[in-house]
Amino acid sequence: MSIIVINAGSSSIKYSVYNAATLEMIDHGLIEEVLDYHDGFIQMGVALVRHNIDICQIEGFAHRVVHGGDQFYAPVIINDLFIDEIRRLVPLAPLHNAANIEGIMAARTIAPNVPHIAVFDTSFHQTMPPYAYRYPLPHDLYENYHIRRYGFHGSSHDYVSRKGSEHLGLPREILNLITFHIGNGVSACAIRQGISIDTSMGMTPLEGLMMGSRSGSIDPSIIGYLMREKHLTIDEIEILLNKQSGLIAIAGTNDLRRIIEAKNAGEPNAELAVEMFCYRLRKQLGAYMAVLDGVNAIIFTGGIGEHSALVRKTMCEKLDHLDIRIDDEQNTHNALFIHQHNSTVKLLVIPTDEEYQIASYAQALLLDKSSLK
Ligand code: ADP
Repeated sequence: MSIIVINAGSSSIKYSVYNAATLEMIDHGLIEEVLDYHDGFIQMGVALVRHNIDICQIEGFAHRVVHGGDQFYAPVIINDLFIDEIRRLVPLAPLHNAANIEGIMAARTIAPNVPHIAVFDTSFHQTMPPYAYRYPLPHDLYENYHIRRYGFHGSSHDYVSRKGSEHLGLPREILNLITFHIGNGVSACAIRQGISIDTSMGMTPLEGLMMGSRSGSIDPSIIGYLMREKHLTIDEIEILLNKQSGLIAIAGTNDLRRIIEAKNAGEPNAELAVEMFCYRLRKQLGAYMAVLDGVNAIIFTGGIGEHSALVRKTMCEKLDHLDIRIDDEQNTHNALFIHQHNSTVKLLVIPTDEEYQIASYAQALLLDKSSLK
């Protein structure tokens, strides 16, 4: 029997198929230019016939849902009530949750007798204390408009912290970790004894670190200033901050490999982009060193975190006073351990696998028969 992990985007369906018992990956694929999710799932079903998989007979579907608000602190088996609750969260993540719901609805129509599970990017961070998740804004905005930090990339931070504890040979419950997911989206997480206590993304994935095309944190007054002085509408500003900022704005591309090549060729904007990107990451590292009392390891993941020795080195060099000592040789090779022997804080490079983590949440939920009631 299989578990199929579904990531329904605005015009695509990404799927990964796992053996429900062993969580071994059986297949994965991407259906692009999806106009109708129903047709998309039929295409997926046809593709899976080669593995003798009938999508109406599998163990379960696990759907990635970006925003779980504060209702969903764990994965759930979807019923009509939950669909309505996820729909109520659409204003918090208009692009993502709307597509995720469409995907769930279509998959439930095609395979109505199979359990469908929703796994939320926000759930892992539901353990943050109020002083970390509240914004210094009037209570009304929290109570009636649900404005607070939620955090994202939860499956990734959870996955690499579990793997990190395996590699360190110590239970996660006794470790303090900082995880950096650095890809097109970028977020950091402070994990105390297996529990997320703070993360850099906020009510939406726009807050925090500099990203591929997102600004990350900026002075909120810039928005009003742009509306008054440049007569931009709020929609234009949202596009500016989400799609035309970050690395793209400073270097002209969000592909860090090309930016580093341009930097090496002496292009000043590429150099500035790399400096800004790494400086903000380094500041975040310092902040989480301060809030976790003692850090055992820092974990790097995501396309950049896994592959860019330059970014990791710029973040971690000259931090002897924090007991962080990076090993240049190991770092250049993207080795699993990239710290020197005498570094108290261990430094690890761990490829993320969000789909596996989502399948693993689904497996645990399906094993818990009582939750099927
Ligand atoms: P997404 O968040 O879209 O899943 P990824 O995690 O795949 O993105 O990260 C994409 C980023 O990783 C791009 O900026 C890409 O240039 C960068 N990247 C991938 N390989 C390397 C590398 N060898 N050196 C530097 N950056 C890299």
